[in-house]
Order: sequence, then C-alpha cells, then structure tokens
Amino acid sequence: MSNIFRGLGMVYFQVPDEIVSTGLLSKLPGKALSIYLLILATAQRKSSPIVRLTSAEITEACDINKNHVTPSVKKLAALGLISFLHRKGAGWFYEFELLDPGTRLPIPPASEKELSLGTLTRKQVHSYFMYRLLPDFSHPTDDGFVARCPFHSSHKLKPTLSVKVAGGGGVWKCHDTDCERHDGGSMLDFEMAFQHLRGRRINSTSAWERITFIIRSQERKEMLDDRALTGVSIDAAADEDAEESFTTNEETFYTLVGNDVL
Ligand SMILES: [Zn+2]
Repeated sequence: MSNIFRGLGMVYFQVPDEIVSTGLLSKLPGKALSIYLLILATAQRKSSPIVRLTSAEITEACDINKNHVTPSVKKLAALGLISFLHRKGAGWFYEFELLDPGTRLPIPPASEKELSLGTLTRKQVHSYFMYRLLPDFSHPTDDGFVARCPFHSSHKLKPTLSVKVAGGGGVWKCHDTDCERHDGGSMLDFEMAFQHLRGRRINSTSAWERITFIIRSQERKEMLDDRALTGVSIDAAADEDAEESFTTNEETFYTLVGNDVL
C-alpha cells in the first residue's frame, strides 16, 4: 500500500484498512460513515484518539438531521469502531474515543510502555491475580494477600494461596502441602497452571500474552470508569454503550491469540 497523494502537497488523514478489508464498510450506513470520517479527521488533526464534537458540529459537517446523529453514533459503537459518552453540560456534546477496529479496544497511547515481568507495579500484579481469583475470598497481608487456592479441592474454603505483591511481585505458593501446586512459582507459572486446570497446555510466551492482556484491559476499563464519573451528566443509554465495549474481552482475546480463549 502506498500513498498516492504524496507529492501533491495536500493534507490528508488515514482511515484504517480494516474498514474495507474486513467488510465493515458494507455494514456502515452512509450517515454513520460520514460521522466516522469526521471523528477520524478530527482525532488526527488533534493527535488524540479522544475527541469532543457538538451535535451542531456534526450536523453541519455531515449535513445530517440532528435526530439522526445518536442512532448513527450508536451504530458505530455497536460495530466496535468507537465508544462514546453523550454529555449534557454547557451545550450538548459527544466525547468519542476511537477504538482499534481489529480488537475493538481503546488505542493505547504511544507512551504506554511495554510491560515486562520484572517491572510490573504492585497494582498491576494485584489486578492480574484479582481478575483470576475474583470470586474467591481474599484478604491483604504485609507483602500481598492470601486467597483460596484454585489448584486443590480439599479445604478449598481456607485461604491457603499466598501471593507476594510487593518487591519481585507475583510470586505465589500454596500452604497446603497436599496441593499439587504447593511449590507455587511466578506469575507465568500461575497462568500456565490456571490454563492447565481448564485442560489447556500453554507455554510461557502465551501465558505472558494472557497476563498482559488482562492487566491492560483492567487498566483501560478503569480509565473509562474514571472518565464516566467525571462527566457533568451522562446520557444513560450512551453510557451503557460505552460500557458495552468492555464486555467482549473474551471474544476480543479470541481474535488476538487465535483459536483459544482467555
Ligand atoms: Zn493449593
């Protein structure tokens, strides 16, 4: 693919190839496509995946009736191209966030550093284990927390699994000597053992992909929740749509790692 406008000295913006190559274009009604192009252009002009546009700006630029704006915006959200909040403040406006059309997840900031096992923050370690051990009783300890061990069936109600979150985070062990995972290990060992419970054998690379996916999706969910809380007043239906983009994480991961689920 090459830029055929090169040399014409004109300003242009980019449209993700997925829109055409995955057939999304055929599902996009004209009005929704116009709004999507406006969002893409505005976002690239501002160098930010998050943009605000008023209804008036949208109706004027796209020449569509204001009653058609919200249904079209919802269509874009349903296709996973954007998430949005509709705010009533000083004049109504929409806050759009462009999503990666391939994953339907927010576009990570360019400054978002690549994660590495040795430099995970306490919060990141904690968020991974809480995601995996969510339904289990847990309580904090001096350097981490204890929770029910998912790897053995006897005395399952006792919190025998201890996880170290501080310095060199993610090291865990089960205090039940009869547990086959008694020795514990690193976060990678935990993820591999966890998948083993589900009858899957995965290697450490795949385990790391899952861990980083969980940490990043939890962080993005938190970011969106924070943003929802700071709005003056948020249209309830629009807010539901924004939440909706995070309910398909398993589905998304399916596409990310191939024929396997989280
Ligand atoms: Zn155990």
